[in-house]
Amino acid sequence: MKHSKKKFTYEKSLGSNVGETILNAATTLPPNTSQNLEEDYIATVITDDHRMIGCFKVAHEGRNYFIPEPDPIVLYFETARGLSKDITQYKQNLISSLGLVEVSLEKSYDYFSRAMASTLFMFNCLEAFVNSLIPLDYKYSKKMPQKTEVYTRDQILREISFEVKMKTIIPIVTNKNFHVDFGHKFETIKNLKQLRDNIVHTKSHPKGKHIQYNHLYALALDFKYSAAIEHIKDYINYHDPNRIEECLCGKED
Ligand SMILES: [Zn+2]
Repeated sequence: MKHSKKKFTYEKSLGSNVGETILNAATTLPPNTSQNLEEDYIATVITDDHRMIGCFKVAHEGRNYFIPEPDPIVLYFETARGLSKDITQYKQNLISSLGLVEVSLEKSYDYFSRAMASTLFMFNCLEAFVNSLIPLDYKYSKKMPQKTEVYTRDQILREISFEVKMKTIIPIVTNKNFHVDFGHKFETIKNLKQLRDNIVHTKSHPKGKHIQYNHLYALALDFKYSAAIEHIKDYINYHDPNRIEECLCGKED
């Protein structure tokens, strides 16, 4: 998979007549501009291909800066993709180094650092995307035999399991059922969640004496990183077509 087109939280195509568009925008400012300038207006930059991109303002070491705000879904996806793109090679290097002591020490770090970091970014990407699909005013009613519990969006994000969000809440909100339409791809996502949980809540084996984390490393060795990155892309684009888009700039990454 090639690198993805870089996208930003606020992005607008201005068309070819940029000057006129900006002039129109400048003349339609409401009269009370000065009072609301901070909250209501954003700084933008305009690219050579006439895209207007929003910047966030940040004070850093005594100066104010305006920085283009990346779409975190694309940012996390790209980070995960970058870390996992040569993972098969790193795995091969590890396996073939196993007869050579010094080399194998280095190769095990090379492989597992990339494998685990890419897992975390894949999951972060997916979770941020899933959360972004839930409308701000959405309420989820969980019906139980004796009572019904109602969760606000904030409570859903904090208290409802990832699986319930994916299999129950997102289908209600979007009217789409990824886990029904693409069962095998959803399996990959469940395996990703399992590996990610093992990394985030790293536990030694209760009976392990000298070797304690073999179950974690075995999972990280087996996991299908390339399939996972493809299936995450599919999940995102299934709900938001072309959110993850191959970049056509021609540059190798
Ligand atoms: Zn590019």
